[in-house]
Amino acid sequence: MQGVGFRPFVYRLANRHGLAGWVRNTSGSIEIDAEGSSESIELFLRDLAVEAPALAKVESVAAIEADPVGYAGFEILDSRAQSSVDSVIPADVAACPDCLREISDASDRRFAYPFTNCTNCGPRFTIVRRVPYDRANTTMSAFAMCERCAAEYAEPADRRFHAEPIACPDCGPRVWLESGGVACETEALEAAARLLHAGAIVAVKGLGGFHLACDATNDHAVRTLRQRKGRVAKPFALMVRDLDEAERLCELNDLARELIGSRQRPIVLARRRMGTGISEAVAPGNTHLGVMLPYTPLHQLLFEHGPPALVMTSGNLAEEPLVFTNASARTKLSGLADAFVMHDRDIHVPCDDSVVRPMPAGAAIPIRRARGYVPNVIEMPVECVCILGVGAEQKNTFCLAWDNTAVPSQHIGDLDTAETLDYYRYAVSHFLALFGRTPAVVAHDLHPDYLSTRFALELPAERVVGVQHHHAHVAACLAENGRSETCIGVALDGTGYGPDGTVWGGEILIADLAGFERAGRFAQVRMPGGEAAIRDPKRMAMAYLHAAFGDDCVRVGEQLGLKLSKLELDVVLHQLRTGLNCPLTSSAGRLFDAVSAICGVCRERTYEGQPAAQLEMAADEGCSGAYTGAVETGGSTVVIDTIPIVRRVVEDCIAGADNALIAARFHNGLVGLLAEACRAVGERSGIGLVALSGGVFQNAIIAMRLRESLERAGFEVLVHGIMPPNDACISLGQVAVAAAGGNDKCA
Ligand code: ZN
Ligand code: ZN
Ligand code: FE
Repeated sequence: MQGVGFRPFVYRLANRHGLAGWVRNTSGSIEIDAEGSSESIELFLRDLAVEAPALAKVESVAAIEADPVGYAGFEILDSRAQSSVDSVIPADVAACPDCLREISDASDRRFAYPFTNCTNCGPRFTIVRRVPYDRANTTMSAFAMCERCAAEYAEPADRRFHAEPIACPDCGPRVWLESGGVACETEALEAAARLLHAGAIVAVKGLGGFHLACDATNDHAVRTLRQRKGRVAKPFALMVRDLDEAERLCELNDLARELIGSRQRPIVLARRRMGTGISEAVAPGNTHLGVMLPYTPLHQLLFEHGPPALVMTSGNLAEEPLVFTNASARTKLSGLADAFVMHDRDIHVPCDDSVVRPMPAGAAIPIRRARGYVPNVIEMPVECVCILGVGAEQKNTFCLAWDNTAVPSQHIGDLDTAETLDYYRYAVSHFLALFGRTPAVVAHDLHPDYLSTRFALELPAERVVGVQHHHAHVAACLAENGRSETCIGVALDGTGYGPDGTVWGGEILIADLAGFERAGRFAQVRMPGGEAAIRDPKRMAMAYLHAAFGDDCVRVGEQLGLKLSKLELDVVLHQLRTGLNCPLTSSAGRLFDAVSAICGVCRERTYEGQPAAQLEMAADEGCSGAYTGAVETGGSTVVIDTIPIVRRVVEDCIAGADNALIAARFHNGLVGLLAEACRAVGERSGIGLVALSGGVFQNAIIAMRLRESLERAGFEVLVHGIMPPNDACISLGQVAVAAAGGNDKCA
């Protein structure tokens, strides 16, 4: 309820109904003492839920009768801090149309002011130090309100009544341009825009951290940015001037338009148009672009003078966390940026841009959940004590839960560098302080080497719970859908620790929140060199060729043009024949890697998920042909044999078939196999509910077609719509399993 203009709304409503008394925030809810005639009170209570402001969500209203005190009027009291109450901090909100109008109105006192905000918009989560959400508890406490701002803040009829980050050019934060140690405040954004036009790379401090910006049509600038950042091919996101520019660059459907303009302002992935002038280096070999609109007045003002499309990539060195303080920007980004747009409104906790992928059917797949969505709560299907789910290793988030509330953190990143681990620790301790909670239970992945697992084991907790990775995936999907019953969980991803000592990743589980059994899996292949096979898709290609053709794989590999050095080929073959340093895996992600490499769509991986992403983009969506594999239902575990599919891929490749058709037939074939396996498990178990999770479900072809196919077969299908299906959802799943009393450690 905080920061959404709820108290002023209550104030106006009380006055309308002639009531006296007061309203105040308690951390997490609103408390109202109102006296008047019983009819007025009844009308007041009715309107309270019906007329609530746009940003507010009234979950419940509870009323008790009390003796009249004899208040003189109605007033808004200061927030009251409580130690053990549900604390809810609002997420950051993009600049609202009213504020944008003011900054472009030369007669307004906030004309061209980059920190304009009101009760309906502005920074929240990123500036809050502690609850309750009052100015004194935010980084805005450094700025004393001027008389005019103070008057607006105190006037119930004003749009800025109790807008905690209220500011104006007389009293608020300032922006400046810094370059070569020299800072300049006058016309800083105009000067930054001129630099961008001239091809410079400018670090821009925004809402949740620094971006690195450059003109997206300037090929040289974009390539320079890639070079400096050490980022070979992973796509850059764009921020564009307005919706028209987004439409010019991308094909947008209604959902994409709605998401792009939403108050969360995520990066929206959409099919790019050709010949728009955007540098090929923005998203090399990619059919899609990630596009967002300006979400702060500062960004808006930058576009009034700057190029209409800017690369806006996270301000960090490759794989390091987002830079969010002026001091660390000066040290860490000085080799990357030619100039800095800085300001003196401190970011207390960093928050990356969120990413969503709208699908044709009207649903969106969350890819990265951060700014605009965090710290929104997820209602849990089970009650619990305070639990911390520490998350997985890649795309890490953690999740704090208590009672029936779960709060997943913002995207943290891959926990494989000291810097990210530091950021992770900082974010965890900030969350615990913010919500005033101490976890009684800590839940972690079963992988003993995940840094998150080690972190969990260091924490003082009454109980430590281990949760199998794919069980966590399925539990997360159940939990965010408010469900807790037994389902058929399809968990498809790159890798996860299996309790049997093999690498899991193509799993069909019969699971509820508390436990699971493995009802089906992909046929296992070897991962030559373990981790090395994840980094090099050619190794996975050889592993599948070996499984499909035995020793003939060398000849087939040559025919396909898979270029491994003689030495590497010898090592890989030795590993495959002997099983040495060659763990078995049922991973779905590795199958995508192998097929992508076999047909030559992607043989060099420069970022996580690249071979699979490019294979999806290569597929002709109009093609309904499908390769056939086999589902073996003889044993206790259903086995999805994908080797026949790989043989067909190879045949078509050698026959010179179009990659668009090969990729489509592969996708469709996989969907067919998965649906058949679910039917087999459903028949055995009598379960009619399926939950889909894992990074593979970022793939729209698999996600949409498998869902359709399962629904046609009579299943009810649950998918992710709040948390990303990738490992970002693991922390929520861990919390859900622990809340239900599960512990996979002993399984
Ligand atoms: Zn506003
Ligand atoms: Zn002011
Ligand atoms: Fe996973």
